[in-house]
Amino acid sequence: MSTRVATTSRAAASSNGGVLAARRRLGALRRRLDDAVRNDLGFPNSTDLDITPLVDLLRRSANNVGYPGRPTNGFRSHTLEEEFEAVQCVAGLLRAPTDDRTGLVTSGSTAAIRHALLHARDRFRKVVVYASTAAHTCVRKVAHQLRIPFVAVPASPGGEMDYTELAAVVARRRRGGVPVVVATIGTTMFEAIDDVGRVHLALDAASVPSEARHVHADAALAGLALAGLPPATRPGFDFADGADSINISGHKFLGTPEPCGILVIRRSACADAVDAVTYTGSVDLTMDGSRSGHTPLMLWWALQQFSPDVLHRRAEVSRANARTAVDWLTTAGIPAGRHEHAFTVVLPRPPEPFLDTWPLAVEGDWAHIICMPGKALDDVHRFVTDYVAVMRPPQIPARPVPIPPAREPAPKRAELKDAIAC
Ligand SMILES: *Cc1c(COP(=O)(O)O)cnc(C)c1O
Repeated sequence: MSTRVATTSRAAASSNGGVLAARRRLGALRRRLDDAVRNDLGFPNSTDLDITPLVDLLRRSANNVGYPGRPTNGFRSHTLEEEFEAVQCVAGLLRAPTDDRTGLVTSGSTAAIRHALLHARDRFRKVVVYASTAAHTCVRKVAHQLRIPFVAVPASPGGEMDYTELAAVVARRRRGGVPVVVATIGTTMFEAIDDVGRVHLALDAASVPSEARHVHADAALAGLALAGLPPATRPGFDFADGADSINISGHKFLGTPEPCGILVIRRSACADAVDAVTYTGSVDLTMDGSRSGHTPLMLWWALQQFSPDVLHRRAEVSRANARTAVDWLTTAGIPAGRHEHAFTVVLPRPPEPFLDTWPLAVEGDWAHIICMPGKALDDVHRFVTDYVAVMRPPQIPARPVPIPPAREPAPKRAELKDAIAC
């Protein structure tokens, strides 16, 4: 009886005052989210993707239960074709071999890395995950979730993996399991890039057989930005450089408003790889049941709007903005710097109250801004002006930012010489 009364009165409340109050909340929320974007140079989300043409579709139900590129038994409320196309497009940009690749859209890069590590574990049974101390914290978290031992490899002060240390720790743990190395392509703090070629050389040095290793490239932030660089100057990070699987985030460089990610993996590196000739569907490597049909659509749309040329141009504008920011800061007497292809500008950590107006990622003595596509140079200038005004000698260290000069990519391993780019 009392339950019924309570239910009825709640329904009555929500049909008048409740809905009006909720609508006001929505207005306030919109203002807060718009405001958050204005001073956001600390976090790596692009803001130039226009999804207006999708808004009407996003009101419709779309559930990608199943696997992209696979028959759906008559169920039609999905965007699996768009998901398949988006994954294939990204696979092409990352030079995955056309006859040995599969993948899917995930809820983000963490989920994509979880899929990749699960494949490696199920394929080799006993594995050990290695990632540098500058790798994203999700790698350790995912290894823990999957009950895989995790070994942190030291990184240089600039954030790149120490390959000599990698060879040493792998050699020491040879009997622990097959090494699964997660290379970071754009570390969270400095946007440093681990060299997949050098990772392989380190595994060679530790006498790890080619067929008993898995190298995953966590390219959440920088993968699609680097993909447009000419092969001769591009850091070694993609499939043609020896990666077995790669993830990217949709909400970072592409700027989808909803978080999402893509995993691309060699079909031959999947746990239950099946013969592509006798079995037309790809292996099912989803870890979920129902999956969003909206995020694959956003990714597909982003890749229509941003052709490979446009992706590269956006990346070059961001790099130019980052370069300009470094110039402005160093001219003002502040040590600042960036890795060769990075959008990330590393600078001394500002005093705490400054972070209320300009939220920044900070670590130890350093902080960074990221000049993502869609962030105007005017905003960067506003930031630099405010920042320089609060930075006084005690906060300005005499030492330079810990970023070494750029160097040549590792020479290609003999067996990768003929890697097919597509
Ligand atoms: C952002 C990021 C992640 C985590 O990605 P989510 O999409 O938030 O799960 C992992 N690795 C790197 C290098 C990242 O930049």
